[in-house]
Amino acid sequence: MSSRQESYPEIREAVRRLCADFPGDYWQKLDRDRAYPRAFVEALTQAGFLSVLIPEAYGGSGLGLQAATAVLEEIHRSGCNGGACHAQMYTMGTVLKHGSEAQKQAYLPKVASGELRLQAFGVTEPTAGTDTTRIRTFARRVGDKYVVNGQKIWISRAEHSDLMVLLVRTTPREDCAKPSDGISVLLVDMREAVGNGLTIRPIRTMLNHATTELFFDDLEVPAENLIGEEGKGFRYILSGMNAERILIAAECIGDGRFFIDRASAYARDRSVFGRPIGQNQGVQFPIARAYIQLAAASEMVDKAARLFDEGVDGGTEANMAKMLASEASWYAADMCVQTHGGFGFAEEYDVERKFRETRLYQVAPISTNLILSHVATHVLDLPKSF
Ligand SMILES: Cc1cc2nc3c(=O)[nH]c(=O)nc-3n(C[C@H](O)[C@H](O)[C@H](O)COP(=O)(O)OP(=O)(O)OC[C@H]3O[C@@H](n4cnc5c(N)ncnc54)[C@H](O)[C@@H]3O)c2cc1C
Repeated sequence: MSSRQESYPEIREAVRRLCADFPGDYWQKLDRDRAYPRAFVEALTQAGFLSVLIPEAYGGSGLGLQAATAVLEEIHRSGCNGGACHAQMYTMGTVLKHGSEAQKQAYLPKVASGELRLQAFGVTEPTAGTDTTRIRTFARRVGDKYVVNGQKIWISRAEHSDLMVLLVRTTPREDCAKPSDGISVLLVDMREAVGNGLTIRPIRTMLNHATTELFFDDLEVPAENLIGEEGKGFRYILSGMNAERILIAAECIGDGRFFIDRASAYARDRSVFGRPIGQNQGVQFPIARAYIQLAAASEMVDKAARLFDEGVDGGTEANMAKMLASEASWYAADMCVQTHGGFGFAEEYDVERKFRETRLYQVAPISTNLILSHVATHVLDLPKSF
């Protein structure tokens, strides 16, 4: 994968050096125990890699999404996983773009230093699924507080966050002019909320992702924790979702490069029938195909990140980047398992773990069908199906 002119070479080199301290056996043990990679997250925080998107005025390095994609791509290419903390990079974007100056001053410098972990993003609900306007978690204004009742599912890192950006209804859907009206964003202080109206229940999944279910039972949130205007929250989270899709696409590119690196090395070394397996075109061609698909997807990720940094509405490009990258990484994952034969299934090779991890990204944070539907109806002007 050396022909590509890589962006941010110094950042990439520094991330690679950091990741070298967290080799496969570190991740294998966490995976077995379903444990959180505290030491890895701490090292990334100390090195400043999680605050690249926070402006310098609030203590971050003020770089753009393109730099952030370089960080996450290298983490994943190294065999590590940014899923434990990538949201620390972008969840603060809702506060940065739509919060008051007082909220920015209160939270962003501490998020930048790592003193506060703002890495839980509560959107998905069991009955709404992808149809976000049908969320039912409701925040009722009572004096200077909101009282929250409802349920969320698949909320990652909730147990490892001090703050959560929470999407709630403040007006019932049927009383709104548009389904996306009447939705608001609250910043929930998890340290106060847990045990006082918020219950977190971990969900065991096929990968170690610290994801959970949340139950709200008369949780009180100070009204001053409302981000922006009441009822306008749906619009606020959209640009954050674009950032999330682009960053996760970069993780897929990193995963794909990991699989291609590993498969190429193994195909050169492993000798069967008296020659390296990589000498057989039946083994070479899938690796070459994975490389070509990944190179194309990578161009789209770069374009989407550039548009985001330029402030251009690049929602379609963010979606296309996520879809192409997640499909390219999945093809590469499957190819890598096949190239390794039996060893593709052995824990100590890390291929099976990365295979499980990269599968997530065709479903979360948005599934492929919804991206196809977006392009069909918003770009190609085909009739809406729902
Ligand atoms: C490990 C993990 C971590 C997650 N972390 C978070 C998090 O931190 N915060 C958060 O808010 N959410 C999180 N999610 C939720 C994730 O964003 C959703 O799972 C995802 O958006 C899909 O929604 P759903 O599961 O409700 O699927 P559904 O909406 O129920 O859809 C199920 C399937 O049906 C398809 N489908 C649905 N409607 C249509 C249609 N009209 N046309 C064609 N196909 C359709 C979908 O594409 C999908 O394949 C996480 C999920 C997982 C698994």
